[in-house]
Amino acid sequence: MKTLTILGSTGSIGTQALDVVAKRGWRVAALAAHSNAKLLEEQIRQFHPATVALFDETAARDLRDRVRDLDVTVLSGMDGLCTLAQLPKADVVLNAVVGMVGLLPTLQALRAGHDVALANKETLVAGGELVMQTAREHGARLLPVDSEHSAIFQCLQATAKGAWAPPQPSASLGLSRVILTASGGPFFGKTAEELRTVTLEDALRHPNWSMGQKITIDSATMMNKGLELIEAKWLFDVAPENIDIVVHRESIVHSLIEFTDNSVLAQMGVPDMRIPIQFALTWPDRGEPPVRRLDLAEIGKLTFFKPDNEAFPAIELCRRAIEKGGAYPAAVNAANEQANWLFRQGKIPFYAISERVAETLERSFPPISSVDDILAVDEDCRKG
Ligand code: NAD
Ligand code: MG
Repeated sequence: MKTLTILGSTGSIGTQALDVVAKRGWRVAALAAHSNAKLLEEQIRQFHPATVALFDETAARDLRDRVRDLDVTVLSGMDGLCTLAQLPKADVVLNAVVGMVGLLPTLQALRAGHDVALANKETLVAGGELVMQTAREHGARLLPVDSEHSAIFQCLQATAKGAWAPPQPSASLGLSRVILTASGGPFFGKTAEELRTVTLEDALRHPNWSMGQKITIDSATMMNKGLELIEAKWLFDVAPENIDIVVHRESIVHSLIEFTDNSVLAQMGVPDMRIPIQFALTWPDRGEPPVRRLDLAEIGKLTFFKPDNEAFPAIELCRRAIEKGGAYPAAVNAANEQANWLFRQGKIPFYAISERVAETLERSFPPISSVDDILAVDEDCRKG
C-alpha cells in the first residue's frame, strides 16, 4: 500500500497516475495543480487527500468554496506547492507539472527525503546538477517517468547488481551508450522548407501519444528529444557523446542501452504512459498490468531512422547546450518554453521556435551556482 503526493494531478500524466492509483487501491496524501478547481474537486472527492494546492490564487478561493463540506486544507501559490511537496505522509512524490515551475517543488520534496517520481523533465534540464546533488545529500531517489528514461531505468535493473536507481552511481553497471527512441512527431519526413508553413493544428496532431499541449509541440519540433538527451545525461551519468537518438515511428521500443561488450538491451511495450508511471511507483517490484499486452505479430514491422538534424535542429541545439554546460541548458529550456507558448498563442510561426532556442546559445551568461542563479537565467531567457 503506497501513499502518494501528485503535483500536476489534473494533467495528462497526473490523471493517468490517478487511474493507476485507483486500480491499485493506493492512498493519496496530497494533490496539486495550476487552476482547474472543478477537476481537482472531483479528485478530492474520489481520493480524499488531506492537503491540496492550486497555484492560481483565484482558483484556490473557488476550490475552498467548493469543498467547504470536506476536511481538506487548500493551499495556493508557489509557497503552497512547495509546502505540499514536503508533507511527511507521502512515500513518493510524483512531479507531473509542466515546465520549469516544477524545480522548487522537486528540490523541496528531495530535501524532505522523499523519493521523487519525475515526469517534469524541465526540472532536470534547467537544474540537473543541483537536483542530482540534492537527491544525493538527502538520500532520496529520482524515479524516471518519461517513457524513454523509464525504458533505460528498466533495462538497468537487468545488470545483476540488484535494484538500481538514480542518483546512485552508474559506473559499475557496464553501460557504454544510451539510445533514445523518438517517434519523429507529426512532421517526420518534412523538409525545412515545408516546415515554414505548418499550423498549430497540424503540430498538435501527434501520431502515437495523447499528451499535454506543451510536450506535444516539443515533439513536433523534436525539442522534446533534445530535452530528453539532457535529462538522460543527468539521470544516468552518461556523457552527451554517448547518447544517440534514433527515430522509431511505431513507439514500441521505448529506448535501449548498450553495454561495454556492444550487447544491446531494449524495453518494449504498447505506447501507454501507465506502464512507466506504475513502474516508477512500484520499483523495484512490478505490479498488475496497467495496460494491454504487446502483440508483436499484430504490429508486424518496427522501423528505425536517423533523425533529420537539418529540418529539426532542436536535438543538436540541446546537445550543444549540455556540452557548453553552466547556464546554457536552463537558457535553452526557458527560450523553448516561451517560444512554445508564443507559437500556441498564434504569435510566432513554428520554425521560429528553434530559431529562438538557437539564439540563446550565442549569448554569454555568468556561471551558475545556486537555484537563484538558475531562476535568474530562466527569467532572462523568457523575455522577448
Ligand atoms: P499537462 O499540460 O497535461 O499537465 C500539466 C499539469 O501541471 C496540470 O495538472 C497543470 O495544472 C499543472 N501545472 C501547470 N503549471 C502549474 C503550476 N504553476 N503550479 C502547479 N501545477 C501546475 O502536461 P503533461 O503532458 O501531463 O506533462 C507533464 C510533464 O510530464 C511535462 O514535463 C512533460 O514533459 C512530462 N511528460 C509527459 C508525457 C505525457 O505523455 N503527457 C510523457 C513524458 C513526459
Ligand atoms: Mg519521452
